[in-house]
Amino acid sequence: DDLDLVHAEKQQIIKKSGTLEMLSVREKLEDIGGLEKLKPWLKQKAAVMADWPAARAFGVEPPKGVMIVGMPGCGKSMTAKATATLFNLPLLKLDMGSLMGKYVGESEGNMRRALQVAEAVSPCVLWVDEVEKAFVGIGSGGNGSEVATRLFGYFLTWMQEKTKQVFVIATANDISALPPELLRKGRFDEIFYVDFPKEAERMEIFRVHLERRKKMNARIQLDRLAKATNHYSGADIESIVKEAIEQAFLDDRVPLDTERLLNIVKATHPLGEVMKDKVQDYKKRFESMKIKEAS
Ligand code: ATP
Repeated sequence: DDLDLVHAEKQQIIKKSGTLEMLSVREKLEDIGGLEKLKPWLKQKAAVMADWPAARAFGVEPPKGVMIVGMPGCGKSMTAKATATLFNLPLLKLDMGSLMGKYVGESEGNMRRALQVAEAVSPCVLWVDEVEKAFVGIGSGGNGSEVATRLFGYFLTWMQEKTKQVFVIATANDISALPPELLRKGRFDEIFYVDFPKEAERMEIFRVHLERRKKMNARIQLDRLAKATNHYSGADIESIVKEAIEQAFLDDRVPLDTERLLNIVKATHPLGEVMKDKVQDYKKRFESMKIKEAS
């Protein structure tokens, strides 16, 4: 009960700041299918954060945060939210776009204030979504680039020197737009790459979404569904489940079965195919940079 009260007070501070948003989240790690390497890593950090005074006294380094890059619709945002639940801490979302001001120095001022608020509210999880959009064009010359470069420098220094318990989760699709300094080890505790779900993961994702909607039954063969959905993202799978439920409802509310789901799979174009060239390009980059796979 006390925690709820503290969260409510923190929410007030954040509302006043203008550049940060406090999200109320219900997502749990168990709601995410797959990502079996990322999950234990997060649990380890959660254990350290939960017992921080003892961990610090023992000599444990303060957790800085994690960067999660990868394919769209494959669970990056979901992971950010589930992390806040796991850590039992408020989740703040930093909207990089809202930092940009029209006067000289305004953007940096906004960034400084946003990070100060995050520190004031700490311990918390700070989610910086689509970081690549904020720091695009750094070093390319021009006015916009200058501001981005200064913002970026400020952010990096803050990441390096922060002493408060602000666990940063940065998410991005396109790392080619990201300055290499951000990806250097030491800024974040780890960088994970989220690929399209593999077969076993797709089974899990189907199961999670069917169970969440109380529609899992013995007529549904998850293995057949997973086999038929190579290159489908988690978001694709979720929309297949939703569509099947709607059809079954209109079809005299019959229970779902494998055939109905497979028919929808056939009629759906997976993201991995629609964005084929881009996806292959991302994949090559992630592999060449030797970023750890989340699954
Ligand atoms: P984007 O880069 O487009 O923001 P994202 O990687 O952040 O995408 P999410 O917003 O986390 O993707 O996922 C979109 C939706 O797809 C989620 O709401 C979730 O229901 C579903 N989803 C994606 N991946 C998974 C997964 N691994 N397990 C369960 N559901 C998933």
